[in-house]
Amino acid sequence: MSKVNLPKYYYNLKADLPELPPPPLHPFTGQPISPADLESLFPKSLIEQEISTERFIEIPEKVREAYAEYRPTPLKRAKKLEKYLNTPARIYFKYEGTNASGSHKLNTALAQAYFNKLDGTEQLTTETGAGQWGSALAYAANFFGLKLTVYMVGISYDQKPYRRIFMETFGARVVKSPSPETAAGRKVLEADPNSPGSLGIAISEAVEVAMSDPKTKYALGSVLDHVLLHQTVIGQEVYEELSLLGEKPDVLIACVGGGSNFGGFTFPFVREKLKGENIEIIAVEPKACPTLTEGEYKYDFGDVAGLTPKMPMYTLGYDFIPPGIHAGGLRYHGDSPLVSLLYKNKIISAKAYPQLKVFEAGVTFARTEGIIPAPESSHAIAAAIDEAIKCREESVAKTIVFNLSGHGYFDLSAYEAYFAGKLKD
Ligand SMILES: *Cc1c(COP(=O)(O)O)cnc(C)c1O
Repeated sequence: MSKVNLPKYYYNLKADLPELPPPPLHPFTGQPISPADLESLFPKSLIEQEISTERFIEIPEKVREAYAEYRPTPLKRAKKLEKYLNTPARIYFKYEGTNASGSHKLNTALAQAYFNKLDGTEQLTTETGAGQWGSALAYAANFFGLKLTVYMVGISYDQKPYRRIFMETFGARVVKSPSPETAAGRKVLEADPNSPGSLGIAISEAVEVAMSDPKTKYALGSVLDHVLLHQTVIGQEVYEELSLLGEKPDVLIACVGGGSNFGGFTFPFVREKLKGENIEIIAVEPKACPTLTEGEYKYDFGDVAGLTPKMPMYTLGYDFIPPGIHAGGLRYHGDSPLVSLLYKNKIISAKAYPQLKVFEAGVTFARTEGIIPAPESSHAIAAAIDEAIKCREESVAKTIVFNLSGHGYFDLSAYEAYFAGKLKD
């Protein structure tokens, strides 16, 4: 495949939006939050990026060096899948699973670790559910010499030892949540000593520890504007790669959990669409957690405890507990405010897929293209297959490009359950 250069800048979509998302609100006062309100949680440089409307933000040389270990990532044409589907469409995918942590999340983890180090942070805290975000941040914290404590949802800690061992190998301290280390954890344990934990509880623990120590900051792996900003390295590379191939995308597809791989992959093309290019941009989510397709656009909290700022987004309600589907990274009640605004303004569309169809698509992709996809990424594959079949039925040769956000080699137990007929829609 074509070789392109590593991007030198992150692309900030806010510079090109006709209308910005409404500001986040303070969780207790209900007033717009000020940058200073965020300083107990995040370093100044990342807060600046969060509120910036500059079109291009330089990627520091040290971060580019870290990216160079695995970027540019491959853009591949899925010729065997095309043949299998007997479609006139050309299908391309960008593969973000080539790095050690196995997903796109490393793109922001490295940037966040670097900017924290620059601003004097000594330790990071975070939460992890299935473990992809914790794995990426463990790699990045080790790379830039930061301590890291990961509050891992208790039930995953017990059921997914490989992700925990991965994080520990890179030097992270992994704590089973709820833990006796924090007031939030102790409160839950008092009520239920056998609590399985939840992402909401783990967030509360990580945030509490960061707020109590000025040298400790908190890191979030999706949703926020600066996270999507860092992920735009994906879409910028795809833009260059397609140009070199003389291709223009007709359809772009990515899965959506909090919106970071979708935003990073599509925003450089949303820029073109806003200028008048005709590109269909599709966000794919699980039917079991249909934030965009069935949620409501309003201010809501990011966590279950109601401690985070309220953000304007599509949401199923901050107390919505999604069923335990095997795409852990897509089980989030809300969505990025930027992605939500694009959907509200009909610049992008959204589709929801049930679990069995998603796994069927993932297996088809593995058997044609030779990569076992993460169940999250298989949502994008399922939609790409449907678009390609539509091309066959209508005899049109569109260029379809999707983001393969990660590999599924830590998710084989989900595939096992699928083959055993134990998965339900
Ligand atoms: C976390 C994750 C997602 C979902 O998160 P977004 O922020 O919506 O991108 C998707 N795919 C993979 C492989 C993930 O690890």
